[in-house]
Amino acid sequence: MSKPHVAILGLGIMGGGMASRLVSMGFPLTVYNRTREKAERYAASGIFVANTPREASARAKVVIAMVADDAASRSIWFGPAGALAGAAPGTLLLDSSTISVAWVKELAAAAMEKGCEFLDAPVTGTKPHASSGELFFMVGGSAAGFDRAREVLSALGREVLHLGPSGSGALIKLINNFVCGVEAASFAEAMALVNASGLDREKSISVLGNSALASPLIKRMLTSMGTNDFTPNFPLKLMTKDIGYAINEAGRVGVPLRTALPALDVFKNAVEKGLGDQDFSAVVKAAGKK
Ligand code: NAP
Repeated sequence: MSKPHVAILGLGIMGGGMASRLVSMGFPLTVYNRTREKAERYAASGIFVANTPREASARAKVVIAMVADDAASRSIWFGPAGALAGAAPGTLLLDSSTISVAWVKELAAAAMEKGCEFLDAPVTGTKPHASSGELFFMVGGSAAGFDRAREVLSALGREVLHLGPSGSGALIKLINNFVCGVEAASFAEAMALVNASGLDREKSISVLGNSALASPLIKRMLTSMGTNDFTPNFPLKLMTKDIGYAINEAGRVGVPLRTALPALDVFKNAVEKGLGDQDFSAVVKAAGKK
């Protein structure tokens, strides 16, 4: 059977990689990005670049949004130029952005009114995983919708997991990322303490980098620090957003995230210091400073 036409809405670090991967896997593709210049390299290689999300979704059987946050997702899907307005009944709609559960549920209801299936399908993995088909998809929505999505998601991911009903994927992603945020904030403060106390920095890094705390996330931070390269794979402002969404979501079900609140403070402080567009690991540059 021929592969379905896919639309990718949002060509940032992740959406751009996913679009390239789909092209290399032979999927017919349409792309859209708010800032048109970022889409020019796709146009140059013969991929249709839509002028609006509506135009993109009208061409596709499967539509995947990959944008910054709830506000970005809302502007991609809703409104006269939005993707919902262009989607024919029966189109499979996915949002792989890390967004709030409340917004996912609103979006799923709006999609259903249009006669479309909607799945929340956020991911773990970062820039290289997006372009090499090694993401991990956490999917919320109906089992039937999940089955329909499998062909496309399997081309993009090493793992595609159906978590449960609408919002389940979004929720586990926020749980995952708030723990990542807490870990990163704690490590940043640990390094601030090393620096302020006069300990030998290299030896201290050798201890911390070879102990039980050296998770893949901490190893990524150590690599950024070692090379002094904070080019974003995962922008710091987006980690800040995720911790905030997780705190709100947990509050809704009466679970105080006592460790997430100070971590959010550490990240907000880094954003205020102008580090929001750098990699999340740049939080080490702001921790310990007022
Ligand atoms: P990014 O590189 O900053 O790209 C953000 C995308 O969102 C761009 O296409 C941007 O368009 C678009 N956008 C932002 N605000 C918008 C608005 N108001 N209206 C329309 N479009 C808007 O971010 P990313 O790293 O690809 O992340 C995308 C999503 O994946 C986020 O939800 C993030 O939390 C999640 N995620 C990221 C990673 C990672 O490692 N990077 C991993 C897992 C999940 P412009 O080009 O016009 O600005």
